[in-house]
Amino acid sequence: MEYPVKENLHRVWDALPQGVRLVAVSKFHPEDYVMAAYDEGQRVFGESHEQELARKVPALPNDIEWHFIGHLQTNKVKYIVPYIAMIEAVDSLKLLREIEKQAAKVDRVVKVLLELHIAEEATKYGLTLDACRELLSGGEWRTMAHVQICGLMMMASLTDDEAQLGREFQTAADFFDEVKQQYFADDAAFCERSWGMSDDYLIAVRHHSTMVRIGTSIFGPRVY
Ligand SMILES: *Cc1c(COP(=O)(O)O)cnc(C)c1O
Repeated sequence: MEYPVKENLHRVWDALPQGVRLVAVSKFHPEDYVMAAYDEGQRVFGESHEQELARKVPALPNDIEWHFIGHLQTNKVKYIVPYIAMIEAVDSLKLLREIEKQAAKVDRVVKVLLELHIAEEATKYGLTLDACRELLSGGEWRTMAHVQICGLMMMASLTDDEAQLGREFQTAADFFDEVKQQYFADDAAFCERSWGMSDDYLIAVRHHSTMVRIGTSIFGPRVY
């Protein structure tokens, strides 16, 4: 292993406050990079393509907790539902329904996060705050016995403006408090705030992140 995965991983761990979990984003990186992190004790990994996961999962230890962090098409849900630990970027009721349907077939309860669109870029996926309010007030999710909504996920704008990043993360944190109080006050499982990536995770953890998704700072630049 030439790339210093181990050193980078320890640097990130050391920078994370207690209670913040790391999702090591291994997309576009080879299995031996995953194993270098695994051997240090990292168990949660994030991927964003179904086919890449299908290739990696059987080749790697089965106590890895895989998180699907990318945009998920409904026709791909059936492939990942049998083994995925968490689907982080649920951005429509249609997708939630498909996860429920496929999870029921394999008798699993799949953990999910609802993805918010707060960043200014139109290219980013996710629910606007109002669309998320609408999804929750609709109540259909309450009937889904095979889906567990564990919290919220978001990606901030691609900017160096730390004040703006801070505002976006805080908007997400305040929105978490709103929906926690309104819909999940008695549900201890609704506790995750997945925000923070390589370039902004130190800001994210100051704004109540519980889970950071970090790729480049651990595994280096991705070769697409
Ligand atoms: C790729 C990706 C990451 C990791 O990004 P880095 O900048 O490499 O840390 C985090 N979250 C999502 C949703 C991603 O697609």
